[in-house]
Amino acid sequence: MNVADSEVVVSILKDSGFTSTDNINDAGLILVNTCSIRDNAEQRIWGRLREMGHLKKRNKDLRIGIIGCMAERLKERLLETEKLVDMVVGPDAYRELPVLIAEAEEGHKAVNVLLSREETYADISPVRMDKNGVSSFVSIMRGCNNMCAYCVVPYVRGAERSRDPDSIIREVNELVSSGYRELTLLGQNVDSYSWKNDSEVIGFPQLLERVALINPLLRVRFSTSHPKDISDELLHTIARHENICKHIHLPAQSGSSRILKLMNREYTREWYMERVSAIRRIIPGCAISTDMITGFCTETDEDHIESLSLMVWAAYDFAYMFKYNERPGTKAARKYKDDIPDNIKSARLTEMIALQNKLSAKSKKQDVGKVFEVLIEGTSKKSSEHLSGRTSQNKVVVFPSSGAKKGEYVNVRIERCTSATLIGEII
Ligand code: SAH
Ligand code: SF4
Repeated sequence: MNVADSEVVVSILKDSGFTSTDNINDAGLILVNTCSIRDNAEQRIWGRLREMGHLKKRNKDLRIGIIGCMAERLKERLLETEKLVDMVVGPDAYRELPVLIAEAEEGHKAVNVLLSREETYADISPVRMDKNGVSSFVSIMRGCNNMCAYCVVPYVRGAERSRDPDSIIREVNELVSSGYRELTLLGQNVDSYSWKNDSEVIGFPQLLERVALINPLLRVRFSTSHPKDISDELLHTIARHENICKHIHLPAQSGSSRILKLMNREYTREWYMERVSAIRRIIPGCAISTDMITGFCTETDEDHIESLSLMVWAAYDFAYMFKYNERPGTKAARKYKDDIPDNIKSARLTEMIALQNKLSAKSKKQDVGKVFEVLIEGTSKKSSEHLSGRTSQNKVVVFPSSGAKKGEYVNVRIERCTSATLIGEII
């Protein structure tokens, strides 16, 4: 999400005559894009800001701005206690950047953290910062209307709004003509994408289908799906189109219905399991991944075991796992006590990661002997004679190049696997 936002910012600044540099010592302006979801992301930014202090001492004209979620959350602290910050610009105010930079250049502190109900940056063509030129992101909506009790996103990124589908299709067409072969449609809850015009309502299944029909050589991914909203209609759309990737990121967060209720996730363990069964039924061979939180308020050993047993049952191919981290202003921070000691949160997280490592290894072992279509993303990190790419299920595959090139599709037979990678040969 943040990369996609940075690309919008670069585009806005380029149009105003700015150029970018890879060398921080040459920069006259440094914008730091920030995330507030967990405290450690914020802590990293404070560290970076302190490091930048010496650049500012050397170059009095250097201006430093904080953009993104932290801007909204911490504008006073950023401007008052961290004197080296000249600008604080929230995620819905990027169009104002050229004006705010001019203010900062005149020596004023420049601030705009207003959240909007409309801004989607629909008309802005992001300047791609990804280097491989094969896969990219397209933002289809901003903000979030769900109120998961632990989550700061609705507060720092505002209400949900969907982007005009015509502008999405235009952006996808541009990407395809500049050689991109895979893109990920991005939103906090893509299933609730909705755009109304005079004659129709376009929901996510319709948007996904339109994007998939643009070019059969273009792979389409999307993230993130909320379990309460993932519909059979969407699953059938994925099954119908070869080029919609067979991978769904479906964050469960917990396997305990009691904790899910406290989290305000609006589904139960049983509901989640039914949705996973529907995926397995409608899209055979589909990979499923999740996000899990350990140590949410009041979580007992039994609740934790329910999370582990759900993971085993769902046989996740991949998971992001986090210790619960109380975020100021959220419902959990206001109403519940963060009562699980840190050592218990850590122990549960370690156990969960060890379990997922086993599940991920099993999922890869099951691929050995099978043939997958792989989109080549570039040379392997370890050897220039090997190429690296992904299967539709989002698993990384490494194989001898045999003359194939970046951006091409090849069929690869999987011969073995490591903990992170499938290894095979082109057939
Ligand atoms: N909109 C997506 C993802 C949002 S943030 C969704 O609903 O799935 C990405 C992940 O960060 C979440 O899925 C959750 O697992 C984790 N997360 C969010 N807030 C957190 C918190 N306060 N503590 C720990 N993990 C958190
Ligand atoms: Fe946060 Fe829940 Fe919205 Fe995801 S769906 S961004 S976890 S509030």
